[in-house]
Amino acid sequence: MAHLTRKIRQIQNRERHSDRMRPGRAVTEQGITTMAYIAEYIWIDGTEPTAKLRSKAKVFSDEEKPGIWAFDGSSTNQAAGDASDVVLNPVLVTHDPIRGGGNKLVVCETLMVDMSPHPTNTRAKCAATAEKYGALDTWFGLEQEYTFFEGNAPLGWPDNGFPAPQGGYYCGVGADEIFGREVVNKHLQACIDAGIHIAGINAEVMPGQWEFQVGPVAAPRVADELWLARWLLHRIGEDVKGPKGMPISVSFAAKPVAGDWNGAGCHTNFSTTEMRESYDACEAAAKALGVGDKPGLHIASYGEGVEQRLTGLHETARYDDFFYGVSDRGASVRIPWQVAQDGKGYIEDRRPNANCDPYLVTQLIIDTVCSSATA
Ligand code: ADP
Ligand code: MN
Ligand code: MN
Ligand code: MN
Repeated sequence: MAHLTRKIRQIQNRERHSDRMRPGRAVTEQGITTMAYIAEYIWIDGTEPTAKLRSKAKVFSDEEKPGIWAFDGSSTNQAAGDASDVVLNPVLVTHDPIRGGGNKLVVCETLMVDMSPHPTNTRAKCAATAEKYGALDTWFGLEQEYTFFEGNAPLGWPDNGFPAPQGGYYCGVGADEIFGREVVNKHLQACIDAGIHIAGINAEVMPGQWEFQVGPVAAPRVADELWLARWLLHRIGEDVKGPKGMPISVSFAAKPVAGDWNGAGCHTNFSTTEMRESYDACEAAAKALGVGDKPGLHIASYGEGVEQRLTGLHETARYDDFFYGVSDRGASVRIPWQVAQDGKGYIEDRRPNANCDPYLVTQLIIDTVCSSATA
């Protein structure tokens, strides 16, 4: 253990040394030229029951690539104070659409100082399972729903009481129906500029509630991109004010408002090579998700408060029930109408919450569906 701690200290010292050597800016004949860029390191913390995103920035000279770094895990529920170093290992480096220029965003997984996965690192298992069943080439399309807040109320809601009941808000237009479009559009463009495979956006059923979709992309990359897209949404909301003059915050809570208001989910669409060629394979995948203890196993990892969201009302089956159906938005798993028509395609697991961990969700789906398909 001591030599491992020494190892990471050596790495850090080396980085500190190169910090001192680095030219921040240099004057050229054309004027001042930036010789450094900012890398915003982003990671998932250990907050329970739902992890939060964290980030901090590091300056690199243009010749340097963002390498491993570390942070104080005792401040993120990831370490004790007397052994607080947690390692950040870059898994996805993109252009930074917020700072622009040559600046970068660096999505990281967390490691122990011996370079093994940190207990809160759910990506490592996702990557291993995806690799194990790599021959089946699973793709995912994630529909991330979320709710904007200004202060304590959803964006556009009165301070006391409620807006008009649901009905006109979904895919609506006009200032009486739509709240937060500026953030939505900035976020959509930022995702494109960062190279995220964002597929689209739409306003949702509850006022102030929206959705964006990422995919189809293989795991774990699709989950890297989803976490990054979540971070960008939080970050862009910081800079945009709502009608009450407060900045806009984002909630991924599964049931942000109790009562007859829609919950927020993360419908998970997926396919294997076989499903993209055969309807029988699509139906077999839907069946595999319902076998034995699988429904309970999946529900347990589909996000905090899943029982409050999956009530059997509001376009979902109950959390303790499992059935699939063609075109059925009241089912646990839906086979899209178009897929039944085409006789091939993908299926949609409607159960994951908006606040789910997409590494856990995609890992479980690959494991359940691919182990059944190869049995
Ligand atoms: P819904 O009708 O449920 O609202 P969306 O259009 O919001 O559906 O989302 C469907 C998602 O399915 C998109 O993200 C899309 O990229 C994804 N998708 C499409 N084809 C496939 C496929 N073959 N495998 C996995 N995902 C797919
Ligand atoms: Mn959708
Ligand atoms: Mn939706
Ligand atoms: Mn859907």
